[in-house]
Amino acid sequence: MSRIAYVNGRYLPFREASVHVEDRGYQFADAVYEVCEVSGGLLVDRRRHFERLKRSLGELRIRMPMSEAALGIVLRELVARNRIRYGLVYLQISRGVARRDLAFPQQEVSPTVVATARPLNLARIEAQAKTGIAVFSAPDIRWGRVDIKTVGLLPNALARQSAIDQGGREAWLVDKDGMVTEAASANAWIVTQDGKLLTRHADHAILRGITRAVTIEALKAHGLSLEERGFSLDEAYAAREAFVTSATQTVMPVVRIDGRPVGDGKPGPVAAALRREFHRFAEMS
Ligand code: PLP
Repeated sequence: MSRIAYVNGRYLPFREASVHVEDRGYQFADAVYEVCEVSGGLLVDRRRHFERLKRSLGELRIRMPMSEAALGIVLRELVARNRIRYGLVYLQISRGVARRDLAFPQQEVSPTVVATARPLNLARIEAQAKTGIAVFSAPDIRWGRVDIKTVGLLPNALARQSAIDQGGREAWLVDKDGMVTEAASANAWIVTQDGKLLTRHADHAILRGITRAVTIEALKAHGLSLEERGFSLDEAYAAREAFVTSATQTVMPVVRIDGRPVGDGKPGPVAAALRREFHRFAEMS
């Protein structure tokens, strides 16, 4: 079965799905995106993803191309047409097509809307969660507004590749003060030796992950103690547990940082419990 993409109002086979060469998303990364988990054919936390999407668009003064209800219908239709039971949907909205010029187009242009969906291998992700992943640190060389979920991900791609080249799965980004901001495509967490959870406070220097927000709800409901603050790489090396959160892997244990085992080098009980509990706190639609 050929994969179907949504492009500006049409559902098209992949080979026919394309955007204009002067799309500002393509030329300037003048575009935002969202990735939503699909579970049992339903969108996980669609409402929260749309809230963040509207915020990202608003920060860049790109108009919402259609109502939230219509966008929800598009994504659900895409999931159905691609027969996804477990997987992800990707939605990207750019400012639109205009002659190449840094300034915003003078004439109002329609935002470009692209969405794709693909299945994920849940058994493989679960197996990964049982063993945990290795991460390597990399300097955080991104711009100052990574709270806006733009498609400008080159520094993230470079950091991820450098982690992979060293035998890891993910990169943990470290700012100029030696503090971990987040991972290349996830939020970073540790559990300290006295059992406190730490994840960086959400300002302009991290993406406010939807999975991060739901995990915070889950851990509060379980009476776990949380501090939203930056932590150093040394604190991470000394942690009892570490994990990352993102829509497509929920809570994923981290068992090695820069080649050093975290705790006993195995996934810890806090990460495992939060992973088990996660979908009880997520919204399905
Ligand atoms: N941080 C970055 C840089 C990301 O790219 C992502 C997800 O793509 C996240 C955090 C996690 O966000 P979410 O939980 O909404 O998937």
